[in-house]
Amino acid sequence: MPSLLESFIRPRQSLQRLAFVFVVLVILSIIGLDIWQAWTARRETLRMAETTTSNLTRSLAQHAEDVFEEADLVLANVVERVETDGTSHAQLERLRRLLQGNVASLAQLNGLFVFDRNGNWLVTSEASEPPGVNSTDRDYFTFHKNNPDSGVHIGPVIRSRSTGRLVLPVSRRINAPDGSFAGVALAALRVDYFRRFYDGFDIDGQGAIVLALRDGTLLVRRPFNETVIGSSLAGGRIFSELMPQAKAGTATLHSMVDGIERLYGYQALDKYPLVVEAAQSRQAILAPWEANIYRSAYIVALMIFTMGIFGIVLIRQIRLGMRAEAQLQEAHRELRKLALQDGLTGLANRRRLDQALPDEIARARRNGKTLGLIMLDIDHFKGYNDQYGHPAGDACIKAVGRAIQMCAGRAGDLAVRYGGEEFLMLLPETDAQGSQRIAAHILQAVRDLNIPHTGNQKGIVTISAGVHSWRPDGHEPGAEELLQAADQALYAAKAGGRNRVFPEPA
Ligand code: GH3
Ligand code: MG
Ligand code: MG
Repeated sequence: MPSLLESFIRPRQSLQRLAFVFVVLVILSIIGLDIWQAWTARRETLRMAETTTSNLTRSLAQHAEDVFEEADLVLANVVERVETDGTSHAQLERLRRLLQGNVASLAQLNGLFVFDRNGNWLVTSEASEPPGVNSTDRDYFTFHKNNPDSGVHIGPVIRSRSTGRLVLPVSRRINAPDGSFAGVALAALRVDYFRRFYDGFDIDGQGAIVLALRDGTLLVRRPFNETVIGSSLAGGRIFSELMPQAKAGTATLHSMVDGIERLYGYQALDKYPLVVEAAQSRQAILAPWEANIYRSAYIVALMIFTMGIFGIVLIRQIRLGMRAEAQLQEAHRELRKLALQDGLTGLANRRRLDQALPDEIARARRNGKTLGLIMLDIDHFKGYNDQYGHPAGDACIKAVGRAIQMCAGRAGDLAVRYGGEEFLMLLPETDAQGSQRIAAHILQAVRDLNIPHTGNQKGIVTISAGVHSWRPDGHEPGAEELLQAADQALYAAKAGGRNRVFPEPA
């Protein structure tokens, strides 16, 4: 069994196989390269989206912190005033102006309120306070009443009783000089403010921004939908799994609100119990990449198709080339055969003899074996032609040639049409006796043809043979010399009366 390498190195079919393997390899390389490129591009796209998302999250967190801090500073100031200066009518009037000034200058503020220990309005930023409004039922009120040491408190979204708007309550406790609960200062931040701010970002149509309390209570969300405000995100992966481990990060997950898969960035604020999230939908992130994939797949398919066509053409060309080469070689072989063959008799021609004889002489010398030559010439053939016509002459030559060929017993024996009606038998490794015997056989074979020939004493066609045998000695003769010697023997046979071999066999 040839090894794989050998079978590739063997020419002819291997060229075809090589072309096939080459085309397949090129096609596989193109596909491999495209897949690798697509995979790398996808990774890069996701990586960039992650960076963008986490940057956006950071700036949203910073914004939320600034906005709440501004409100908180106002509250701290108000609390300090009430605790220090008391709640006399004059004080409250001054405070009202302060509150109104703050609401006017801070866009996020819907209103500022101060409640006494019973939940009644002491002073607000409103122009007038509707009577009978009480805040004891509010979450922030009970919280501060029950928690003497707490700082700022941020509660879930409520609807303002003064303006009817959705607000985020940010509050601080007011203490009496003895440390007992004296009331609450409240800043109501407008949900609308955040909504507008979040809507201003250029994120994809399915992107999301979330502001939530640290416990998972949803405060504001883009896209805005009032019904989801107040729902809890506590059960989601970000709140339950990720945030306990790291205050900021990114993760790909399905939204708890709308089920869409997004890349989320999240960050818990340092100063306030708040969390912001920014998210881009995975579909939107990968959409340009996908479009690119289709484009490049189309180009690759085109390249593969072209390559395939090229391969088929190449392999067909190689096959055609190989067939043409085989035909050419066959023709060449045929031509060589024809060039060395006599057209009439099919015997070797003179040219073949000219090639073979020097080789045989050299071989005889090497082996020390006798080389025999029989020169043959049909008797009275001119007369045959004259009497029976030239075509009959040709037929006769053909028949005689066949008879001579039949007498070439060994593989190395070479029967040659030497001239018109002259033949030569080359007999390697045959001694004089053997050659003379074969010559006698040829004469008999020609007589046995029984071709009538009235111009011959015998009444049939006969042939004469001159035999020359060369036994290698110190002297190495040329081909011409041997032929002449055989010719002379033939001359002797003719002179001796024809239809005979010279020298006569013993
Ligand atoms: P000899 O017994 O002395 O050989 O007498 P011959 O008549 O055969 O004399 P020679 O060998 O000299 O004559 C050869 C003749 O053979 C001459 C030519 O007419 C005829 N001949 C030679 N070649 C061809 C051939 O290809 N076809 C035919 N039909 N005749 C040929
Ligand atoms: Mg002759
Ligand atoms: Mg003759």
